[in-house]
Amino acid sequence: MINFQYARAHDVAEAVRQMGADPAAKLIAGGTNLVDLMKYDVERPSRLIDISRLPLTSIEETGQGLRIGALVSNAELAYHPLIEKRYPLLSSAILAGASAQLRNMASTGGNLLQRTRCHYFYDVATPCNKREPGSGCSALSGINRMHAILGTSEACIATHPSDLCVALAVLEATVEVAGPGGERGIPFADFHRLPAEEPERDTNLAHGEIITAITLPARGFSSHYTYLKIRDRLSYAFALVSVAVGLELEGNRIKEGRFALGGVAHKPWRNPAAEALLRGQEANEATFKAAADAVLREAKGYAHNGFKIELARRALVRALGQAARATPQSQSNKSIR
Ligand SMILES: Cc1cc2nc3c(=O)[nH]c(=O)nc-3n(C[C@H](O)[C@H](O)[C@H](O)COP(=O)(O)OP(=O)(O)OC[C@H]3O[C@@H](n4cnc5c(N)ncnc54)[C@H](O)[C@@H]3O)c2cc1C
Ligand code: SF4
Repeated sequence: MINFQYARAHDVAEAVRQMGADPAAKLIAGGTNLVDLMKYDVERPSRLIDISRLPLTSIEETGQGLRIGALVSNAELAYHPLIEKRYPLLSSAILAGASAQLRNMASTGGNLLQRTRCHYFYDVATPCNKREPGSGCSALSGINRMHAILGTSEACIATHPSDLCVALAVLEATVEVAGPGGERGIPFADFHRLPAEEPERDTNLAHGEIITAITLPARGFSSHYTYLKIRDRLSYAFALVSVAVGLELEGNRIKEGRFALGGVAHKPWRNPAAEALLRGQEANEATFKAAADAVLREAKGYAHNGFKIELARRALVRALGQAARATPQSQSNKSIR
């Protein structure tokens, strides 16, 4: 049993103030990740600041795009008519994740900040640099089938488990935050970090900063998109590899393309140089393979996850084809609310 204090914040400023007053405090939204981590003794907050009743629950048009409040639930977001119509990639990615019950509880902001599913991170009897900096990485010489193949370091080879975030990377969202120093917007590509020497830091958010919203630019790739998730079970499983794709086509020629891989790195993995290989090219298998080869050229496998390199290459080629043909991957749990 761990002792902690509980307080409810009534507005964003109060939540920021309460966080600033206690370096060991944690915000709680849906609680679907944080409460598990507390039960496993991975997180030991001195105080939980409940933000679940803050008025950050609307989805609004901004003129250029959409602004999604940080407390919009994953379910509400996936089924919102504007998201289904203009950003169906986002909807597909969310519905590929978790379960209906979890999506009802989980918040948009919390999804970005969920922590890795590395088994050793959850097992407090084993060394883990992310949980206890300097203790070592058990996955390097342990069971690493689910682990990263891109952007790893000697300190950590964990992956980021979110599906929603892979789509947000392709959509080039901005994360709006409020903190002791005021408000700022963080481009999605700069929000999550690679492990390098500080795997304990998942993001560039400072202590005391709260995500208030996610903004989406106008471009939603609503005609040519797909979210393809490869996993051990068809539902209720994290990605071995996932791919989000958005294409703009003129006839059969690619005007612009974005793609990101999930389940392969400490953050959703984009490679702008590989995306540039699509520009102006025919949407065919040769083009897709060239882009996939460029992304996976830097990949490195460990004892049990070498298969992910070829899996990611094939998944990316398949996903690009699905997007180009406007035949997105259907999610089996689309109708389960
Ligand atoms: C069994 C299971 C299966 C799952 N499968 C998937 C899956 O397949 N795909 C997938 O993407 N996800 C999956 N999830 C993860 C789930 O989507 C996340 O747990 C959820 O999105 C987290 O949101 P939350 O509101 O519950 O966050 P919480 O648990 O409340 O918080 C998580 C973290 O975010 C911080 N936080 C929350 N809101 C804010 C905010 N506004 N500003 C700053 N910090 C904040 C908290 O302090 C905490 O550190 C699964 C979870 C479970 C338990
Ligand atoms: S991969 Fe990262 S999270 Fe997993 S044991 Fe190593 S340091 Fe910990």
